[in-house]
Amino acid sequence: MRFAGTTVVVVLATVVVVAVVACEPLELHAAAAQANAATVVSSPPNLSNRILCPPPPVRELSQVARGDRRAPHYPAARMEALDEIATWLRAARHIVVLSGAGISTESGIPDFRGPNGIWTKDPAAEKAANIEFYVSDPVLRARTWQNRMRSEIWQAEPNVGHRALAELEQRAHVDALLTQNIDGLHQAAGSTAELVVELHGNVREAKCLGCGWRGPMAETLDRVRAGETDPRCVECGGILKSATISFGEALVAADLERAQQAAQHCDVFLAVGTSLGVYPAAALPEIALRHGARLVVMNAEPTPFDPHAHAVVRAPLGVALPAIVERI
Ligand code: NAD
Repeated sequence: MRFAGTTVVVVLATVVVVAVVACEPLELHAAAAQANAATVVSSPPNLSNRILCPPPPVRELSQVARGDRRAPHYPAARMEALDEIATWLRAARHIVVLSGAGISTESGIPDFRGPNGIWTKDPAAEKAANIEFYVSDPVLRARTWQNRMRSEIWQAEPNVGHRALAELEQRAHVDALLTQNIDGLHQAAGSTAELVVELHGNVREAKCLGCGWRGPMAETLDRVRAGETDPRCVECGGILKSATISFGEALVAADLERAQQAAQHCDVFLAVGTSLGVYPAAALPEIALRHGARLVVMNAEPTPFDPHAHAVVRAPLGVALPAIVERI
């Protein structure tokens, strides 16, 4: 395995926070989370209403690794918990992974809400991801096409975290890799294409919001390079955008259905690099918990699901994912 050998050293020298939390019986709003309107991508209006169970006390498990080079917000390490998670994954018959923008930051693609996130640095950028603003504002569209053309996504390569998830398939029983990412890096890392569900679409294609036409993104970007500020559909003259699902757009029903089924039937649900704040994807861990799965949250910052997770790993994914996978 590519990362084997060096990883243990890296992990010991880097700080990993792992909290295994006592998981109380949950009374969650899964019904609301799965409600009809839930096919539309949105930030939850009031997240605290979605999780009704009061947070259980977190068992204090911090322990600082010797000689670590920790970042201020990665204060402690507990390697035994990584062993424990690996044991759960080894024993699992049905593993589901949900990934978010955080797994691709180490490939140079910024996330939205992390400390260096696009929206954290420029809150106005959030508008470009909202379908209503996009459709109604030609200036915003022109700016978005320029940003698409220059995006770091076109040069990005998969990182060790992506490759660790591809390796996980070889070592354990992965039913599905549900991703909110639009960058295609899981497939580029070797994850089986049939297992990857791109819940929020992808940037490889452009789509027409009028007639549904689709074509390679490269061709539409060539038109932008040639001087078109807001290229229109070659079939009907409609508004074009990337074949991603913006806020306010509906997910592909079959993809959401597949993701919900996978969440219902898994015994371990691994949420990696996601703030778990975008619904309906963020309802998937709830579904898994309600059906008796173990929930592992791996994210640099706290998420609303941490109090309900069986384990929380707060560390760079490029460190923590290979460390877990090599233990399986
Ligand atoms: P998010 O921006 O809301 O959250 C990302 C989380 O990842 C943050 O909490 C951050 O702390 C964490 N993180 C960042 N780097 C990390 C690392 N190296 N190790 C561990 N954790 C790390 O992203 P989200 O939850 O995926 O949801 C927002 C939306 O962003 C999704 O709809 C997705 O489609 C879209 N998005 C995708 C990409 C991509 O395809 N790469 C990039 C930006 C945004």
